Amino acid sequence: STTTIPTTMRGVLCTAVGSPSVLSYRTDLPVPRPSAGQVLIRNTYAGINYIDTYFRAGIYPSPKPEILGRDGEGVIVALGEGETYGLHVGAKVVWMGSGGYAEYSAVSALHVAPVPEGIPETIAVASLLQGLTALTMIREAHPTKRGEWVLVHAAAGGVGLWLCQLLKAVGARVIGTASTVQKVEEAHRAGAEYMINYSEEKTDVVARVLEITGGVGVDAVFDGVGKDTFDDDLKVVKRKGTVVSFGNASGVVPPFAISKLAPKCIKLLRPQVFGYITTRQEFTTYTAELFRFIQENKMEVKIHKVYELEDVQRVHEDLEGRRTMGKLLMRI
Ligand code: NDP
Repeated sequence: STTTIPTTMRGVLCTAVGSPSVLSYRTDLPVPRPSAGQVLIRNTYAGINYIDTYFRAGIYPSPKPEILGRDGEGVIVALGEGETYGLHVGAKVVWMGSGGYAEYSAVSALHVAPVPEGIPETIAVASLLQGLTALTMIREAHPTKRGEWVLVHAAAGGVGLWLCQLLKAVGARVIGTASTVQKVEEAHRAGAEYMINYSEEKTDVVARVLEITGGVGVDAVFDGVGKDTFDDDLKVVKRKGTVVSFGNASGVVPPFAISKLAPKCIKLLRPQVFGYITTRQEFTTYTAELFRFIQENKMEVKIHKVYELEDVQRVHEDLEGRRTMGKLLMRI
């Protein structure tokens, strides 16, 4: 029944391009209606991802005003027309989509997954988007094999901790980077064998990676930092190795001459997670694998903090200020 759905809701509007001050907490936003192929979800948690800051700051253009938020957890309260993949009203689910910083989100049923038995509250939502990013990249961007050396930048971040754990689980050897002693410890705990604190002025990341790998370099680099690290990625990757550039936390990688890839026959990718889970089949297969990893390999899902929706400006400040480890959530 849809009779209990109100017409207005609490949520956060991104009113313009700018600093976190453009994020405005409201109590009178219209509740969206599910269109064909969508379901309406009453959220219990909204996830925060670095991409939210790109939309807010205008690094990725999007129309304003806008409700940010690409993942969440909640209960299905209504189904749209058309294909909704057997989902039903009342189901507890996690989702990927848009419009998450609010009480209600209308999202494509294709990217909605029931929360499996035995996965605690908040763990499923903390895992879905960042876990699938890491999982699809180690399966498809660089199908990572046992014994390979892999460099993971921002290894104590949301995606970073997932990469450390999943790479260790498949038998790869992880070298991570991070900016504080605490982050270094956290990434070690998640499975990074070596950690490099790239915020220390005397640290030469390239020299250290080459030293660790006996002068050879790494089989692959997973880089969500972008501008600050990209040039070094080309230096530390071995001949015929792969550089996976998947984000811009320090800024966008500037255009460059592809001939720079030639001397070492480097493979370079710039993937996005939605590109690997475009079909329902891909989404359900990878989601099932991710949840299996959590249950069978006893993955630790690090939640930096559960914030209140009203504190959204602070959430963005903490994330952009490099003060967080793991996943950030807002209680709705
Ligand atoms: P994180 O939790 O990793 O936060 C970003 C981290 O980047 C910081 O904690 C910081 O770690 C590091 N960093 C390095 N330089 C800077 C800088 N100048 N300013 C701010 N942070 C910096 O965020 P997410 O896990 O949400 O995302 C990580 C990356 O992955 C982002 O680039 C994001 O856009 C990308 N991403 C891409 C996806 C895709 O589909 N392509 C999907 C999901 C995420 P430290 O202090 O240790 O340097």
